[in-house]
Amino acid sequence: MTRTPFMAANWKMHLRAADIDDFCAEVRDALAGSTTAQRGVRVGLFPPFVYLPRVVEALAGVDVTVGSQTARPEAKGAFTGEVNVEMVKDVGATCVIVGHSERRHVFGETDADVRARLDAVLAAGLDVILCIGETLDERQADQTLAVVGRQLQAGLAGLEGDVVAHRVTVAYEPVWAIGTGLTATPAQAQEVHAEVRRQVGALLDDDTAARLVIQYGGSVKPENVSELMACPDVDGALVGGASLAFSSFGSIVDFDKQGSGNTGVDR
Ligand code: PEP
Repeated sequence: MTRTPFMAANWKMHLRAADIDDFCAEVRDALAGSTTAQRGVRVGLFPPFVYLPRVVEALAGVDVTVGSQTARPEAKGAFTGEVNVEMVKDVGATCVIVGHSERRHVFGETDADVRARLDAVLAAGLDVILCIGETLDERQADQTLAVVGRQLQAGLAGLEGDVVAHRVTVAYEPVWAIGTGLTATPAQAQEVHAEVRRQVGALLDDDTAARLVIQYGGSVKPENVSELMACPDVDGALVGGASLAFSSFGSIVDFDKQGSGNTGVDR
């Protein structure tokens, strides 16, 4: 089964216009000459809302996914300060992250809120990255697989397999590893990724599960990306801190050139 690795930069509330212009110029230099299929890696950039049009424009014609870090599902309404899915689509974004742990834990989004966003993104014809993952307390209580199972059930049950296989990426992000410098070991990541694939098979069907791209997120950096990517069920990375400079994010995109870890696993 061939799955194209997907490396995504989540800039959170970092970088200013000038930094973003420089970053996009480096992306253009590095990637303008190749398509995703040719380079064998899909690349995604997720800037703050206000910079979405700037990134879309700077990378016009470059085969790179530009998306938003969240979006509200409602078509319109009294939601001061918020932006909805159709608005991010209007400015040229083609993908939306839903369920990031900061949205769940800082902004109080529930599994139902995450599902409403995911449904709205798919209804708008955009792609989606569904983030799931356990807290440290949940891991220590041996609840990891139950928690990701609950989040997958809430996020994906009832969807059409083909839509999920083509337009949904699942990002497994252990909350204790995000922005902390702690990374799941390859064995810890592989255990959960294999279970995610198994649970998606049970929830939808085995073909969808085999085609599903599952990213790992949590302190991914150039030094650890190849050992994570060598795991058979790790198909990419959602990267926070190490995505803020192209010098490190570009090395993550080039994961197969970072030392000995990657083995050309058949995805
Ligand atoms: C993230 O924001 O999704 C993330 C994984 O952050 P970091 O790489 O900084 O841990």
